[in-house]
Amino acid sequence: MTNIEIDDKSGFCFGVVKAINKAEEELAKGETLYCLGDIVHNGQEVERLAEMGLITINHEEFSKLHNVKVLLRAHGEPPSTYELANKNNITLIDASCPVVLKLQARIKKSYENSPTADTQIVIFGHHGHAEVNGLVGQTKGTAIVIEDESELNKVDFSKNIRLFSQTTKSLNGFNHLVTTLSKKTKEGADFEYFDTICRQVANRIPNITTFAKQKDIIIFVSGKKSSNGKVLYEHSKKINPNTFLVSDAEEIESLNIDFSKKIGICGATSTPRWVMENIAAKLNEESLKQKQV
Ligand code: SF4
Repeated sequence: MTNIEIDDKSGFCFGVVKAINKAEEELAKGETLYCLGDIVHNGQEVERLAEMGLITINHEEFSKLHNVKVLLRAHGEPPSTYELANKNNITLIDASCPVVLKLQARIKKSYENSPTADTQIVIFGHHGHAEVNGLVGQTKGTAIVIEDESELNKVDFSKNIRLFSQTTKSLNGFNHLVTTLSKKTKEGADFEYFDTICRQVANRIPNITTFAKQKDIIIFVSGKKSSNGKVLYEHSKKINPNTFLVSDAEEIESLNIDFSKKIGICGATSTPRWVMENIAAKLNEESLKQKQV
C-alpha cells in the first residue's frame, strides 16, 4: 500500500462552499442560471457545475443580457455590475463572500471619508483579479493597485496613503509592504494600513508548514488562476522543495514519483476535495504500475 495522505485541512473555504451551495440550490429549481466569471478557480469544479446547467459568462456577455438570473461568485463585484443588473432587469443571486463584502464596505468608507482629495487608496493585490476589480470599483476606479514592491513608483509618498489588501495575498508580503511604506512616507503625509487578509488563507500557512515537513513529497492541487493557490503552493515549496503543483490527475504521470516515499496531497481554498481524491487514486494506480514493471 502506498503511503499517501490527503491533508484534511485543505480544500474549499466557507466563502466558496457558500457560492457553490447557492448555485446548486438555484440549479435544482430547473431555471436557467448564469454565473459571472468562473464560480471558482478550478476547472473541474466549473465543468461539474456546467454539466448541471450553470452557464459561465464574462462581463461583456453580461452587459447584453436582460430578464435573466445571474449568480455573483465569492470574489464580489464592483457597483457598476449591480447598476447594470438593475437597468437590464437581471435578478442577481449574490454569493459574494461576506469577508469580501466587508472589505468592499471598508474601502468605500475610507474613500468617501478621505481627509484630503488627494489621499491615495492603495490595494495590495493582483491586477485584473475579479476581487481586486470589485475593490477598485468602491473608489470610482481611483485606487492604486500594487502587486509587489516593484510597483511602488505608482505611489506619491508626499500624500496621504491608506493601504488595504486583497483577501488572498500573503501576510508576510503585506507586513513587508507596511514596513516599506512607513519608511517612505514623507513628513506631512500620513500612512494608515488595514490588514484585510482572510484568515481562511493565512491560517493555512502554519498547517501547510507542519504537513509539508512530515512528507517527502507534496502534490499541491490547485487551478493555475487561483491567487491563494499560488501563495500556499509557494509556501509549501519553501518548506519542502519536493512540492509539485498539479491541476488534475493527468499531470501525475509526468512527475516521475518515487512511491517508496511519504506523499502528501494538499490544495487551495478553491480546490474541491473530490479532485484531491482523484489525485490520490491516480497516485495509487501509478504506484501499482511501477511495481508491475
Ligand atoms: S478565501 Fe476568505 S475571502 Fe476568499 S472566498 Fe474564502 S472565506 Fe471568502
